[in-house]
Amino acid sequence: MGKPAVSIPSVDEILRASAGLVACARFGHGATVAAVRAALGDYRYGLRENSGVATISRGDAAKTIVAKAVEALEAANAPRLRRVFNLTGTVLHTNLGRAVLAEQAIAAASSAMRAPAALEFDLETGGRGERDDIVRGLVCELTGAEDVIVVNNNAAAVLLVLNTLALSKETIVSRGELIEIGGAFRMPDIMARAGTKLREVGATNRTHMKDYEGAISSDTGLILKVHTSNYMIQGFTKEVRTDELAKLGREKGVAIVDDLGSGTLIDLARYGLRRERTVQDAIKDGADLVTFSGDKLLGGPQAGFVVGRKSLVEACAKNPIKRAVRLDKMRLAALEATLKLYRDPDTLHESLPTLRHLSRPAGDIHASAERVAPVLRKALGENWSVSPYDCASQIGSGALPLETIASAGVAIAPRDKKQSGRRLEALSSALRRLPVPVIGRIEKGALILDLRCLDEETEFVAQLTTLTLRSAELGAQHDSP
Ligand SMILES: *Cc1c(COP(=O)(O)O)cnc(C)c1O
Repeated sequence: MGKPAVSIPSVDEILRASAGLVACARFGHGATVAAVRAALGDYRYGLRENSGVATISRGDAAKTIVAKAVEALEAANAPRLRRVFNLTGTVLHTNLGRAVLAEQAIAAASSAMRAPAALEFDLETGGRGERDDIVRGLVCELTGAEDVIVVNNNAAAVLLVLNTLALSKETIVSRGELIEIGGAFRMPDIMARAGTKLREVGATNRTHMKDYEGAISSDTGLILKVHTSNYMIQGFTKEVRTDELAKLGREKGVAIVDDLGSGTLIDLARYGLRRERTVQDAIKDGADLVTFSGDKLLGGPQAGFVVGRKSLVEACAKNPIKRAVRLDKMRLAALEATLKLYRDPDTLHESLPTLRHLSRPAGDIHASAERVAPVLRKALGENWSVSPYDCASQIGSGALPLETIASAGVAIAPRDKKQSGRRLEALSSALRRLPVPVIGRIEKGALILDLRCLDEETEFVAQLTTLTLRSAELGAQHDSP
């Protein structure tokens, strides 16, 4: 290996050239120097490997190196939280961030970020205010509850309630309701951390009033009823309803807490879905406290609600854990704006993206599939079959687990069935590499793109021209070099 025949610019020279100065202004001096050094090292290595190229000027070499450095800096600077197209068919997809917020909520959160806000400040008296006052009136009006506090999420709401009402005491729960929600949220574990003793009653499939009655003692902190969200027991079953438990609770002086999980404020039957017990129902049934999420069916930001009897809500508010799990101003602003939309239920299916997606007419989605399929067919070439497809969407996040909604999308399958699994994986991966990654699902030998949640069809279609599969053997027409 001889000395390269090209004269190589120094790091200093590169940084002082105009492109170097622009890069320093954009990414900072330190990061730019490091990136230029790395690019320069690669450049030297490249020269040694092909010693034939000997006619590059010093200036051109500097340009090449800075361009490489900027490319690396841009890649390192790209946001890690990427926007995606959710074409999984699961409307409230926990791994994709659950509810998409309403424009009103986005605007409210942005204002709250941009300027100081009277978060805990009473503008009438000039004295200290309480942050949950921002949504108190609205939540009480919409749910019929006496009082409310809002916290980080529903897991925090449950933790706070258990720790407040049943610390060092027993929490009575039906064995059939000791659920795992996913992401390590298991009822028994949460109870242990909340400092309450789990008192299981009944059998997995059947729990009777006498089971609850028999478990009540001077050690009882509360009776917890849990919405079994993501599963359903069918067959020979028996559960005790909240209204029945409320009667027992009143007789024995024990609080009844109803963890609704998703929680909805409106009758979903309006939108052609199965009716789910609402928060109002749980309050009417006599639950002393009700807990539910902000970013599931409610369609707002991540949050957890504790609503119900004033004395009990106040006790939760005074628990030091409340301070550790309280909401920030951005989410409170977004939550307030989301809740306001519920004052006009007739326009909710337009204003709230979650409900808009859930209630989107199948014909509309079919029409979208008819438009999208030919574009995909062209982008993928003749080795793939692409056709409009009738599929079923899910609500997600544990709401109505067995309920599916008739939907439409596109099914993509390799014409060559050999190693079809690997081909489908390659296709999924190519779709994830698009400027706005596309997430679908693989089902019965095809990649399904459920178009229910595709709001920006034009943008989706436009980026398909850049779709490239990595290897020729996968049957793609457009292969990357
Ligand atoms: C989803 C769910 C939770 C957890 O709520 P997060 O808002 O995700 O913290 C708790 N309980 C039930 C029954 C649920 O469905």
